[in-house]
Amino acid sequence: MKFAHVIFIVVTLLILMTPQFLPLSSKSIDELIAGASEMSNFYLEDMEEGTIRRELDMVLTLEQYNSLYETNIALSIDGQKKRGRPRPRRKAIRDKKYRWTNKEIPFKIVPNDFDVNSTRDIYEAIAEWQNYTCITFRSATNSDPNFVEIDNGNGCYSNVGMAGGSQTVGLSGGCRFKGVILHMLGHAIGFHHEHNRPDRDYYVTIIERNIPANLLYNFKKYPLDEINTYGVPYDYSSIMQYGGRAFSLNGEITIKANDPKYQNVLGNRMS
Ligand SMILES: [Zn+2]
Repeated sequence: MKFAHVIFIVVTLLILMTPQFLPLSSKSIDELIAGASEMSNFYLEDMEEGTIRRELDMVLTLEQYNSLYETNIALSIDGQKKRGRPRPRRKAIRDKKYRWTNKEIPFKIVPNDFDVNSTRDIYEAIAEWQNYTCITFRSATNSDPNFVEIDNGNGCYSNVGMAGGSQTVGLSGGCRFKGVILHMLGHAIGFHHEHNRPDRDYYVTIIERNIPANLLYNFKKYPLDEINTYGVPYDYSSIMQYGGRAFSLNGEITIKANDPKYQNVLGNRMS
């Protein structure tokens, strides 16, 4: 083999080993979340009275739901959705109401729901969020009115921000990857999905022809006044970003990175 050939192979290997060129060798965040649920119709699932699950894993209060989607859906007592008359927009979600008091998140891990390894992963995910944000997690006490309870739910899901009272981060067996745990805790802190950001069109293109019409709402661009990006630029590698084939009708790309070298970074989890 000529020296030039060796150089060519080495350079090719080096390029392929950089993250943006890595093939999707493992499941993306959204694929893991979708695979972990045993419910058949979890795309639009009423979790309990007064809440609704959207985008696979976000449990929203009706107030949050109506604000984010600018819809006028109300739930009746029996949980049936009904359409009401259009009404004025409610107060924005970035209202302090959904922010954690004193930037502290009291939490409990339900005893016996997790083995030693999963418990360690949960604590590592908590430590990671504490490193990257000003949020602190601490063990809940009986005097905490609002807290997160991490349990073995049916699938992976979380409220977005402080919902009030006890709120659940559900982590069933299929959710017990550090990336998925980080994602769910991100929702509990108050983060939404990266590809729903108001400024996402500068960074990604949603390929609507590859998405079933009844799931297009998952790609809704949230109103600017509902989301506070805190001036943080769009992050292709965000743990809150779904993969490039999320909600695909045909296995083709649904979220296309405008800068193609980031396509395979979308939704990838490092752990
Ligand atoms: Zn999510």
